[in-house]
Amino acid sequence: MADITVIGSNMYELTTFVDRMPVEGETVEAPEFEMGFGGKGANQAIAAARLGSQVNFITMVGRDEFGRQQLENYRSNGISSDGIGIADGSSGVAPIFVDTSGDNRILIVKGANKQLTPAALDDKKDLIKGSKLVVLQQEIALETNYHAIELAEGYGVPVLLNPAPANDDLNIDYVSRVAFFAPNETELATLTGMPTGTLDEIKAAARNLVRRGVGNLIVTMGGKGALWVSADQELLVPAVTVEAVDTTGAGDAFIGSFAHYYTQGEDVPTALGHANRYAAISVTRRGTQKAYPTAAELNDLLL
Ligand code: ATP
Repeated sequence: MADITVIGSNMYELTTFVDRMPVEGETVEAPEFEMGFGGKGANQAIAAARLGSQVNFITMVGRDEFGRQQLENYRSNGISSDGIGIADGSSGVAPIFVDTSGDNRILIVKGANKQLTPAALDDKKDLIKGSKLVVLQQEIALETNYHAIELAEGYGVPVLLNPAPANDDLNIDYVSRVAFFAPNETELATLTGMPTGTLDEIKAAARNLVRRGVGNLIVTMGGKGALWVSADQELLVPAVTVEAVDTTGAGDAFIGSFAHYYTQGEDVPTALGHANRYAAISVTRRGTQKAYPTAAELNDLLL
């Protein structure tokens, strides 16, 4: 029986570092290339597993070399393979181009992730039963997330929904059915149509969602930390001050680690503080999953 069931995407990132972007019809030589594991679902599953949670990851990989490597990545991080389906066609891949100023251009090929349909989820529904928490993001179809919320509700399992990337079509009725709704500032603005440039504006937008039925709203605010708002309270948990070198994947480090600490029995403020610390360490290192520490590393870093 797993502590956490993450349902979501996996991507294979193919990153080319360029001196400058090619223009139409042009071929340019690029100095560096890197491959890495990504996808919001996968990142969150890996963060929780590295901290020691028993994690089920419900996802779809393609029947190709990238899919094989993804499977090996989950196995070596201790994630159960029970929830992972293999679909015909390509795995999800993300060709990324980064220039010397750090600007990037990203293509997302969802590939096998598109086959994580509500029906595919039905085949894995027993994995949800008995989990302490289901964790969702928005790189898969909204209908699949809605079905996941219904299944989890039926089994009495709480859900954490991280609405990333933002999607205007997200149905507020489903949002009000999850235990935790955790957008970043931009996603909160998209969802409410309200400004989120200042802390007061963020609080007002958060209150708006709580009034519309959201139980616990957790807003991640980059270097400012996280804000927890529910019907009867409001708490700002400040970020840990660090020298950030690469904030890619910080949100996923935060969500995955919060899921871990919360399902280990910590109360929300303590789990938020620990998730801030985990995500802060991840921004001091380059990369996404490779920046996520294990529980053992975390102990060493804190000595
Ligand atoms: P991304 O899309 O890059 O993964 P995000 O926008 O979803 O990130 P953020 O709100 O930027 O998520 O960051 C998530 C959490 O990571 C923050 O709540 C905080 O705990 C931590 N964090 C991010 N940036 C910093 C920073 N510069 N210093 C310390 N902690 C940070």
